[in-house]
Amino acid sequence: MGKSKYADKLKRLVQISPSNAVRTKISQTSMELFKSQDVSALEEALAVCVDRDTSMDLRELIARVRWKQACYEDVAEHFLAVADGAAKHAGLLKIGLAALIKLGRFGDVADIYHANQEFFIQSLSAESQAHVYQDAWLSMAALASNRLATDLQRTRRDAPFLQSFLGPAARAEAPKPVVAAAAEHAQRMCAEESRAHEWDGAHPRHIALAGTSYCGSTILSAVLGSLPGCENIGESYWLTRRKQGAHPALANEVDFERENVMYCRSCGPECATLTTSFRLELSRDPTLWYRKIAQQCAAEMLISSDKNHRKLVCNDPLLRMDTVVLFKSPEQHWWSNLRKIQSQAKGFNPLSCLEEFERSWTGEYGVLLDSFTPSGKTIFLCFDAFCEAPARHLKQLCEHLSLPFKEDAVTNVRRAQHFLGGNASVSTAYQQQPNMQVRPLEATGLSNADKAKLASSTATQDIWTRCMTRYRQDFD
Ligand SMILES: [Zn+2]
Repeated sequence: MGKSKYADKLKRLVQISPSNAVRTKISQTSMELFKSQDVSALEEALAVCVDRDTSMDLRELIARVRWKQACYEDVAEHFLAVADGAAKHAGLLKIGLAALIKLGRFGDVADIYHANQEFFIQSLSAESQAHVYQDAWLSMAALASNRLATDLQRTRRDAPFLQSFLGPAARAEAPKPVVAAAAEHAQRMCAEESRAHEWDGAHPRHIALAGTSYCGSTILSAVLGSLPGCENIGESYWLTRRKQGAHPALANEVDFERENVMYCRSCGPECATLTTSFRLELSRDPTLWYRKIAQQCAAEMLISSDKNHRKLVCNDPLLRMDTVVLFKSPEQHWWSNLRKIQSQAKGFNPLSCLEEFERSWTGEYGVLLDSFTPSGKTIFLCFDAFCEAPARHLKQLCEHLSLPFKEDAVTNVRRAQHFLGGNASVSTAYQQQPNMQVRPLEATGLSNADKAKLASSTATQDIWTRCMTRYRQDFD
């Protein structure tokens, strides 16, 4: 049979309702055209093809010919034409992703991976996945690091897989920090899962305050830490980290002598609860992090304010916690940041920093709204509103989280809470004056330019509106 006869036959076949017999004929005929590199005949058949599976097969063959001819744009085009939720064809997916990687279109690779994760994991060999994933991740470190924490949490069941290929990548000649971090997370998740039977998160419980710096967590955690059975650890992250540089882990007693660590705000270096030996042991084996801290503090309910979702994922990859997402209005939050920055660094440019603030604020609360999925409840609490009526908000919060309500927790904060970090001036004020009143937030001293900029930022206003919608679901 001549080349054109195959083409005619194929065109006739792809218009017939496919039965197994017809599919076999289509497959044989199209393979002949593939061998003869007759892309135009395959494309003609594709144009009149009535069957989805057959059209995928034809697309794959066309893509493979184009790949041989180094027409990578063409391969990508054939793939992307069906990639939107429909890349359920291993051969096409593999060659399509390879082409996108060749073209450096890593954003597309990431999007396709995210949209088809299940299929991707089930259909491609571990080796192919490793190749695609590693190439993409190595080349888009910024994107990957943004998505890292939530991705690993979502795909926690793939921890052994991630570990198996990220491990060697992290040890490669020039390891990228993101790959090393991913490998560390994967390893940590494996450890948590192997010991998951030891703690389901119910006894003792962990209630995490989430949000960004200066969201009011020092006050709220001190209040919650005054409830019966509750202990406030503050920023538990600092238990095993040094203050300098990239916060390397504490390794030995010498670290403590150098005074480069944070100590208990109540007792200082002599704290009998957060002892050096406990902290070093936690550093050596962080598995079951919050359970160990709760036991050390003899807490039925542990309150933490590590806040940042990455730190929470890092401390407990299985996210066994109830979460209070604490937020201020953008104006109040920026004002708190601004006062902090102004008190520490003169001559900085407020405008460029406002932009930075908005990026990090919308980024963090965006994740907490959309991707953060702890095992327990998630309650959004507006700190501005809390300060207007602290007792009422505390009562409702206690009801939602099944915590024992005690009205004077807001007016008489318990002394001697063993906690780290937090806003130093607030902690000091509470140490000296535990019956300090929570007062409504004062009007900000922001410039009109800053106010206008915040008001006109669609992204910021969108996140603020969505946080308030969540808040109103739980508080009246
Ligand atoms: Zn202490």
